[in-house]
Amino acid sequence: MEESTASPPAVSATMHRAKTRARASHVTVGQARHHPDGSAEIDCSCGMVLTNGPQWSLDEHIRLHRAEARYLAVSEVAPAGMPRLIPVGADRRPR
Ligand SMILES: [Zn+2]
Repeated sequence: MEESTASPPAVSATMHRAKTRARASHVTVGQARHHPDGSAEIDCSCGMVLTNGPQWSLDEHIRLHRAEARYLAVSEVAPAGMPRLIPVGADRRPR
């Protein structure tokens, strides 16, 4: 069955590649380090150290971090005119 709402193939491929790149650039490295004070951290392959906090778990930070990375990557290559939930810079708005 054909999807009438499908994006043009070129844009779709670009956005898919961006998402794949983001996924590959943000993988946790090694084991989580658990400290006596209850804090825990793990390295991301992008260089950022992911941690738990007073109101979030290490796993929650990992999930948010990956989601942010995917969002940023896809948002960067998405067509400027595509309506957004999160506001983007004026240079990305339709003219
Ligand atoms: Zn990362």
